[in-house]
Amino acid sequence: MTFSELSDLSVRQLLARRRRLTGGLSEVERTLRGVLLHEGRRCSSKGWRCRRGELHGPYSYLAVYASGRSRTIYVPAAVQAACEAHVAVTQRNEALLQEISQINLELLRRRALE
Ligand SMILES: [Zn+2]
Repeated sequence: MTFSELSDLSVRQLLARRRRLTGGLSEVERTLRGVLLHEGRRCSSKGWRCRRGELHGPYSYLAVYASGRSRTIYVPAAVQAACEAHVAVTQRNEALLQEISQINLELLRRRALE
């Protein structure tokens, strides 16, 4: 919902919407912020495969951004599905939190923040 759409709602409607969004948050303990990447890699050996551009993999990596810098962390196949589930639930929750924040901004504008 956009800001202008939110401004059409009453305070009561905003609070109801915020309650509904809050109820949609799930599995917060699985929060894992990052983006899953699947990339081929060149190894350090001078083997013919890499030299011909046939990369190994693809392997999975989680790109995470924290404290002003980003890094990638190797995701072993054994935990790839769990990692994907964590990232997916995090994206759903972040979208809900984003809208909750917009509602709270709208309540602030109306001096209805409690
Ligand atoms: Zn290689």
